[in-house]
Amino acid sequence: MIVNKLIANMLPHMPKRLIWIFSKRYIAGETIDDGLRAARELNAQGVEVTVDVLGEFITSLAQAEGYKNKYLETIDRFTSENIKGNFSLKPSMFGLLIDKEACYKHLYNIIALAVEKNSFVRIDMEDSQCVDPEMTLFKQLKKEFPGHVGLVVQAYLRRTLDDLNSLNNLTANGHPLNFRLCKGIYVEPPHVAYKDYQEVRDHFLEDLEYMFKNKMYVGIATHDKYLIDQAKILIEKYEVPKDMYEFQMLYGVTPELRRSVVQEGHKMRVYVPFGKEWFGYSTRRLKENPKMASHIIKALFFRG
Ligand SMILES: Cc1cc2nc3c(=O)[nH]c(=O)nc-3n(C[C@H](O)[C@H](O)[C@H](O)COP(=O)(O)OP(=O)(O)OC[C@H]3O[C@@H](n4cnc5c(N)ncnc54)[C@H](O)[C@@H]3O)c2cc1C
Repeated sequence: MIVNKLIANMLPHMPKRLIWIFSKRYIAGETIDDGLRAARELNAQGVEVTVDVLGEFITSLAQAEGYKNKYLETIDRFTSENIKGNFSLKPSMFGLLIDKEACYKHLYNIIALAVEKNSFVRIDMEDSQCVDPEMTLFKQLKKEFPGHVGLVVQAYLRRTLDDLNSLNNLTANGHPLNFRLCKGIYVEPPHVAYKDYQEVRDHFLEDLEYMFKNKMYVGIATHDKYLIDQAKILIEKYEVPKDMYEFQMLYGVTPELRRSVVQEGHKMRVYVPFGKEWFGYSTRRLKENPKMASHIIKALFFRG
């Protein structure tokens, strides 16, 4: 743990080109064309994508305007090239923590374009201070665009099952609630999040079972083989139809496991991040979760 923290703290001071050597496994590149290339490769393997434009926490609303335009351009390009996929975004990039109304308007414009292009936008979940405002955003946007917006929930949060309960009556016009379920990546205090590895897994499965029982659509986002195996058991138990769930993984992570899930006939979606802000994104992520440092070091030595 101490070694991971040391590495995570050192990385921002290393040459950018060196960091790119190990970041490139997890990031499609800097441009929309890089994102398109990665998406086409995955589509050819029978895998859908969710595309994420990398960004920093913003300090002024002018930055939010720039990110909105980048998303509009991205949605336009990916949909006109018939990429099989959808889009993910982080509300903090659009001013969630500066001006909630401005953030809502940006997301509204982005999702409106996705609707026009018959696509879908997922709101990523960020650290615990963002959970309440992101749930509010989701509720407002789900009313406007019932079948075109989804939210992420994090199994490590003590509150998640209560949140699912409180959202349960939000189905509109026959469109089910659409969630991505993940463990959660931020470092949170113990009164906010479960800390024990198996405890997080147990709550992941508890949340998943709740979603299946309540006919919610779920993107099962994990590389943990134990959870994938347990999820398959729940899918059989509740006879969940294929159009009510999918598995999701991150770009560059556990490709063998990904292939085995696809071969078994389950729908798979890969989260494809790209953008000029990859350096800040990678190093910030490492500071948020120093455990990631060991994955990055492994990637450096075991490339390919
Ligand atoms: C599609 C997708 C979207 C996500 N969106 C969010 C979000 O909106 N908010 C949020 O808080 N978190 C998000 N996450 C991150 C998630 O919360 C976890 O932190 C992350 O997926 C690792 O958890 P795991 O379930 O894979 O289990 P872990 O126990 O962390 O990993 C299981 C195994 O997978 C492998 N593995 C995992 N990560 C890596 C890696 N980076 N490199 C190499 N091997 C790896 C290792 O072999 C590890 O033993 C997302 C994850 C995915 C897959």
